[in-house]
Amino acid sequence: MTAHAGATRITFLGTSTAIPDRGDDTASFVVNDRILVDTGWSAIENLIRNDIDPLTIDCLIFTHMHHDHYLSLPSFLFYQVMKRRDLKELTIVGPADDVDHVVSCACTFLQLERFFGPSTTTPSVQPVQPGDDIVVAGFTLKTAATLHPVQGICGKLTDTATGSVFAFTGDTAHHAPLADHIRGASLLIHDCTLGPVAADPATNQALHAGALDAARIARDAGVDTLVLIHGPRSSASASIDAARTLFDGEVVWPERDQTITL
Ligand SMILES: [Zn+2]
Ligand SMILES: [Zn+2]
Repeated sequence: MTAHAGATRITFLGTSTAIPDRGDDTASFVVNDRILVDTGWSAIENLIRNDIDPLTIDCLIFTHMHHDHYLSLPSFLFYQVMKRRDLKELTIVGPADDVDHVVSCACTFLQLERFFGPSTTTPSVQPVQPGDDIVVAGFTLKTAATLHPVQGICGKLTDTATGSVFAFTGDTAHHAPLADHIRGASLLIHDCTLGPVAADPATNQALHAGALDAARIARDAGVDTLVLIHGPRSSASASIDAARTLFDGEVVWPERDQTITL
């Protein structure tokens, strides 16, 4: 993975579990400064710290609508409104079961009409069902269902300018069909909430993954690089070591603000 002109850039704004570690945020990343995948707790602060103008985000993709993934949606939208951006320019993609409701709640919470007038717009919401195939901000997005307590989408993004392909699972337990969906991607970003283990189905009611679950999917999908996120930072190096016992490719746990280039 070397940087070159026109490459696909993935900047990690946080890699923590649902409750952020000190100096980190819950899992969230930006693609080419245009697509934000999940918001974490502090999207605006994270973007500005990385010299990414929040107004350049054209598309927000929610992997699923659990709180830690959408918590800073209201402040993200408030920033756009304060900067006089037409919210209609912002496309919000998310699982059809929940995305409309959460975006609507965020707009209600902001009292847009009361404080910004009756002509204030709302974001363009694009609900997707697993299996849908859409175009967003210079990429095609193919989705598949995750295995999680709420509807979730595992996304495969293809950069229409470079042909680079990568995938992200959002939160999920080990789910064998994801390998077929992800195949063809060079890089996979996978949930590693449980650290350097395989999940025990008897105790995995929250339906998350450990490093060994992620490594199985990476191996079966044939990706080159496995990126572990959404776990405790203290388990990062042990998780990388565990994943390497099953997967021969590169395994990384990004630092906050690290950019990986495809
Ligand atoms: Zn989560
Ligand atoms: Zn979740």
